[in-house]
Amino acid sequence: MIIRKTAAELQKMRRSGLLVWQILHELEKMAGEGVSTLDLEVAAERMMKDAGARPAFKGYYVPAAGDTFRFVLCTSVNDEIVHGMPSAKRILKKGDIVSIDTGVQLDGYYGDSATTVAIGEVSETTRKLMRVTQESLELGIQQTKAGNRLFDICGTVEKHVLANGFSVVREYVGHGIGTQLHEEPQVPNYVERKNENPRLKEGMVLAIEPMVNAGKPDTRVLKDKWTAVTKDGSYSAHFEHCVAVTSNGPWVLTRP
Ligand code: MG
Ligand code: MG
Repeated sequence: MIIRKTAAELQKMRRSGLLVWQILHELEKMAGEGVSTLDLEVAAERMMKDAGARPAFKGYYVPAAGDTFRFVLCTSVNDEIVHGMPSAKRILKKGDIVSIDTGVQLDGYYGDSATTVAIGEVSETTRKLMRVTQESLELGIQQTKAGNRLFDICGTVEKHVLANGFSVVREYVGHGIGTQLHEEPQVPNYVERKNENPRLKEGMVLAIEPMVNAGKPDTRVLKDKWTAVTKDGSYSAHFEHCVAVTSNGPWVLTRP
């Protein structure tokens, strides 16, 4: 069942969304050569604590991993797609890209967002990968309006990525969000006719999160049971926003 939120609930989700934005904004400024992904984790956890928010990921049980996640951030570097774990040993260097994905729960409601940051100069292909992924998210956001169907989002994201010669990850998808981090519906970044294609209605909130590979779409999970990487070693970019369907069109909750 897709849970629609009242205006008062959307205001609460707005607060969570803005906190997530603020954290990611600080981490974007902080991420640079010589900084470890654990440095980012420590800063993020501090900001959540200061804001009186609960981290959404730390302690979250994931059946596929058979374990709970131990960090407030997922930090996925280069060929890592999602669910990378912060580490003092992972020191960012020039030419890297790092996807930072985080969420909080504030006053019962979740916010979830991700961004990908380039460390110094990156290759032209990598710059294009980041740009196209971000553009596909923006195009998906524009489709998030009452009367459209879910496939309008999925198909628009997929089309833009493929038209630019990149591929869309299929194993990991976006999701509804509210009092749960992951609610119905799933929001894939591709159209699969057998999937549910609900009509979008006011009050729905979707976390749209294209994960785009520079090479082939195939993925595998590392021995750590969490980190998803591209099979061919190509770089992968990831951007995410929570978007509410409103009478005024799409409302991106996770940015000002
Ligand atoms: Mg998400
Ligand atoms: Mg996320």
